[in-house]
Amino acid sequence: MSFDLSGRIALVTGASRGIGRATAIALAEGGATVVAAARGQHADETAQAITAAGGTALALPLEVTDPASVTALVDTVLERFGRIDVLVNNAGITRDQLLLRMKRDDWDAVLATNLGGAFQCTQAVIKPMMKQRAGRLIFISSVVGQTGNAGQANYAASKAGLIGFAKSLARELASRQITVNVVAPGLIDTDMTRAISAEAHASWAAQVPLGRLGAPEDVAAAVRFLASDAAGYITGQVLAVNGGMYM
Ligand code: NDP
Repeated sequence: MSFDLSGRIALVTGASRGIGRATAIALAEGGATVVAAARGQHADETAQAITAAGGTALALPLEVTDPASVTALVDTVLERFGRIDVLVNNAGITRDQLLLRMKRDDWDAVLATNLGGAFQCTQAVIKPMMKQRAGRLIFISSVVGQTGNAGQANYAASKAGLIGFAKSLARELASRQITVNVVAPGLIDTDMTRAISAEAHASWAAQVPLGRLGAPEDVAAAVRFLASDAAGYITGQVLAVNGGMYM
């Protein structure tokens, strides 16, 4: 099984860096035409890398917390390609703090980006997917959405929220042959995890049975599988890509 995505139009949010960038590249390697979205011109380099490798990609600006930006993006994709087959809701941020000291702004920003952004992007694509009677919605959650994590109440709430959101949507859309699944990465080596202290990093890494941090490509491979025909009978599931951190 090659997880072929030829002819598919795939939209990846937060495709400028880390997991989103690797996912955009993996989907393009599968043959999909990829729309790489991030703020401003940030995703340009990802699209250039895909094109340079012989794939097909377009970079577009996206601010997931801005409904007008989301609508403009989806309209452009539909005008240009006529359909959307795969949406990967990957854009996300952290604003870590113990709840005792957490500012309301930090709660709101994380929920608005991670959960609100996914709502906005998903709602914008489901109409065309329903008409197509086909589609793949994939959410990037996190192991901390499954386990919780001290200092990340806002982030864990947003990531757990994505799981409930995706499972509900899986039930709403199954009759249209649209599958909805979640990938829950563990500790992946990206800008996001490089921002945490070396001490926290080491203590997290020590909890990984496979004994290493994940690479963005480890997560991208799971997304490519879920986007492919091979995963056609899988919906409403959470696929953990965490090196065994949480079983
Ligand atoms: P990075 O910080 O490396 O990249 C985050 C991406 O999200 C960037 O492309 C960024 O774009 C985009 N983004 C952030 N805010 C917005 C916004 N408001 N509108 C549009 N795009 C936005 O993160 P990772 O690659 O590590 O994480 C990707 C996803 O995976 C996130 O949802 C994260 O929570 C999740 N995850 C990560 C783990 C890890 O260990 N790294 C573990 C579990 C889950 P821009 O260039 O414009 O800033």
